[in-house]
Amino acid sequence: MDISVVVPLYNEAESLPELEAWIRRVMEEHHFTYEIIFVNDGSTDNSWKVIKELQKTNPAVKGVSFRRNYGKSPALNTGFQRAKGDVIITMDADLQDSPDEIPELYRMITEDNYDLVSGWKQKRYDPLSKTIPTKLFNATARLVSGIHNLHDFNCGLKAYRRDVIEHIEVYGDMHRYIPFLAKNAGFSRIGEKVVHHQARKYGSTKFGLDRFVNGYLDLLTLWFTNKFGVKPMHFFGLLGSLMFILGFIAVIVVGATKLYNMHVGNPYILVTDSPYFFLSLVMMILGTQLFLTGFIGELIVRNSPSRNNYEISEDLCD
Ligand code: UDP
Ligand code: MG
Repeated sequence: MDISVVVPLYNEAESLPELEAWIRRVMEEHHFTYEIIFVNDGSTDNSWKVIKELQKTNPAVKGVSFRRNYGKSPALNTGFQRAKGDVIITMDADLQDSPDEIPELYRMITEDNYDLVSGWKQKRYDPLSKTIPTKLFNATARLVSGIHNLHDFNCGLKAYRRDVIEHIEVYGDMHRYIPFLAKNAGFSRIGEKVVHHQARKYGSTKFGLDRFVNGYLDLLTLWFTNKFGVKPMHFFGLLGSLMFILGFIAVIVVGATKLYNMHVGNPYILVTDSPYFFLSLVMMILGTQLFLTGFIGELIVRNSPSRNNYEISEDLCD
């Protein structure tokens, strides 16, 4: 099979028939063999009923339905597990992404040899309250992930080589950072294609402004787990030692100053009257705690079944 189209959806009943017809038209025009996997993320409208109706007229339509709403990432991951195509395309169900982009995305994967191609909604039809924070969000994501050529990490329209989806796990809200996940899994040929974007035709957006707060937290998590996931002591140990040493030096200075003043007969104050004494106490306690966090992290890693999982591209050993 050439293409699997994975569509996560939550309450998008009105859009589905149009979307299916549009995808089918594009696929038939280009003679692709394909499937459309609708992942119903616990919709409370009749989206699932619509999907079952669509399947009656088009056997390429497939579907999975969650019993409750889990989020876009779990929906994508579930779709990925069922996809059988050589190239996997994801798109939103709300008709904001255009199926007309599919043939070129497919070509970029199969001919230009990209592992992943991400859409770029260069001209967006979204409210300003979303487009401005999005710019900031993408700048940070570029910086942290080191994928400098992407403008739009969170674009719903993306194409993947089969290998990629078999080696990444999208969970929580990590769909925002799939290119980063792919890069961490060793897929470095990540491309971008400018795609058409439309205003939402039916229904309303499923994400509020909390997406940006959560997005930043997730980015930190990814950065941390990627860099220190199997060696937490390198992070906590360094921070803890620095903290402790600074505190220790400060307490020595406070004590030595007093002793010196006593010795030469100058007026002196009690160490507990100096703010630096308390500052250094706090620093030494925090430093010790960070250090111990590092040890606990190491104990957890020692027991983690994934501590020795590596992405192996080829193996000539057997
Ligand atoms: N979506 C989902 N589960 C959720 C929230 C959203 O499957 O919990 C789907 C939604 O139906 C749509 C896609 O994810 O197909 C993108 O959502 P939306 O269009 O609301 O996001 P936006 O375009 O505003 O970023
Ligand atoms: Mg949308």
